[in-house]
Amino acid sequence: MRIVCTDAALQNAHAPVTEFSCAGLLPYPECPPRYDAIRAALATTSWAEFVSPVQQGDDRLRRVHDDDYLDFLSTAHASWVGRGGSGDLVASLFAGFDGRAPAEPSAAMGFYGFDTTPIAAGTWAATRAAADAALTAADLVREGTSAAYALCRPPGHHATRNHFGGYCYLNHAALVAQRLAESGPVAIIDIDYHHGNGTQQIFYHRGDVLFVSLHADPEWEYPLFWGRSDETGASAGMGCNLNVPLAAGTDDPVYLQHLEQALQRIQSFAPQHLVVSAGFDTWLDDPLGSFHLTGDGIGAIGALLAQLNLPTVIVQEGGYDVAALGDLAVRFLEPFC
Ligand SMILES: [Zn+2]
Repeated sequence: MRIVCTDAALQNAHAPVTEFSCAGLLPYPECPPRYDAIRAALATTSWAEFVSPVQQGDDRLRRVHDDDYLDFLSTAHASWVGRGGSGDLVASLFAGFDGRAPAEPSAAMGFYGFDTTPIAAGTWAATRAAADAALTAADLVREGTSAAYALCRPPGHHATRNHFGGYCYLNHAALVAQRLAESGPVAIIDIDYHHGNGTQQIFYHRGDVLFVSLHADPEWEYPLFWGRSDETGASAGMGCNLNVPLAAGTDDPVYLQHLEQALQRIQSFAPQHLVVSAGFDTWLDDPLGSFHLTGDGIGAIGALLAQLNLPTVIVQEGGYDVAALGDLAVRFLEPFC
């Protein structure tokens, strides 16, 4: 299987120190060892074929994200340093209602962010490189590869057309889906523990991209404001958004039963390509999750998705138990080989 990943130093230059939570300042869980663990585990398999990403033009990004948002993301940290700032840039004041972005990029954090996700010195370079990896995987599949995996860090599925949050800046899965949609209908399935609110927003009005997400119920879990089952799409996209919120404690049998139902929706949509937002924070020991999926369960998810027999691009999203992450990625990807 083709595994597209960038230079580790570039990807791991994105290393925010802390996250602001209800419990105060905590070590940032979306950390460089996540990337290292997955890459190291894949390197021990007989089937992983590592491929370097091809650099992609900004026009690909601009088909998914707004120009002003991209200009902000690519300059915010440098502007902060230029104003004498150091360390991670974190919003403390949010627009929350109609307003205009200040011209100074570092002052616009709370205009373009929907939570306190920081922007660090290496953030833009890392998410830009992850976008190159994801789009390279898309091109491989367009050229006939049956399945390709992009080892993206940071993740992307919470990033909307014009907002970052939830450790996400560029929506790598959406970039892939937009690229693949040029040749026909695309289905996205998001199996991260958290709802992929950014991907939902980007394609909510589109009839050519089906978005399906299984996730913890937003009544009590991040991202809280999106992901309910009555969000089904709008205008041309009516009926092309399927949310499956699940209870805390969801285990393998319950999850797989809901997944099989969701896959019927994908089959009836008859897509030409499948995009998988693959998060492994559904794992029973994940520090951010509340589901009880086992390694066998995560392997079974991979097997059910592989049985769809669609040309597939898999994009890495969350998963925060670093000790388990490599094994979970191997178990999930193996059925596609
Ligand atoms: Zn997640």
